[in-house]
Amino acid sequence: MPELVFFSGTMDCGKSTLALQIEHNRSARGLQGMIFTRDDRAGEGKLSSRLGLVTDAVEAAEGMDLYGYLVDRMSKGGKVDYVIVDEAQFLAPRQVDQLARVVDDLGLDVFAFGITTDFRTKLFPGSQRLIELADRIETLQVEAMCWCGARATHNARTVGGEMVVEGEQVVVGDVNRPAEEVGYEVLCRRHHRRRMTSAAAHAGALSPDVLPVTPA
Ligand SMILES: [Zn+2]
Repeated sequence: MPELVFFSGTMDCGKSTLALQIEHNRSARGLQGMIFTRDDRAGEGKLSSRLGLVTDAVEAAEGMDLYGYLVDRMSKGGKVDYVIVDEAQFLAPRQVDQLARVVDDLGLDVFAFGITTDFRTKLFPGSQRLIELADRIETLQVEAMCWCGARATHNARTVGGEMVVEGEQVVVGDVNRPAEEVGYEVLCRRHHRRRMTSAAAHAGALSPDVLPVTPA
């Protein structure tokens, strides 16, 4: 039975790497995948991982009908055996409904990869809809780590180096350059609640408030 599978995790947990691995394994067996992404770090029309791998993808633009796109492609003789969607948290709920229809009506597996919650610890609408509709949800096992060594479960946004908990849900930043205007960092819940990024921890290293917690 074809499935809609939601692979979820924090930033930095290897989602895109796994997406590329699934793509590699299936294309090596002669299967043809349709890859969608949205706002990838490598730019429009690319699916890239932090490990440096990259492949071509179709930008799942706002308002795009993903089901209609696939029907159109297949009706013109395009071969599509499965679908991969990276950065799925950025999809509109309606687009997630379209992916469920791809599974049910076109009989294709759909593997969606995304972050569940934003920097305010609120669900992204796309991820919420995936949790509601997915046949299966997989929490990625490549666990990101907070600066303290604990498992990182929450995404923090920094602006000019300071952690913020208010603002637009989607602002593209760079986890590799958190000191610039908008950056992101993964933290454990304890340090997310205390707004304690690695930079803040280093700055206040003498405070008992920032003693590292023992990793679980
Ligand atoms: Zn921590």
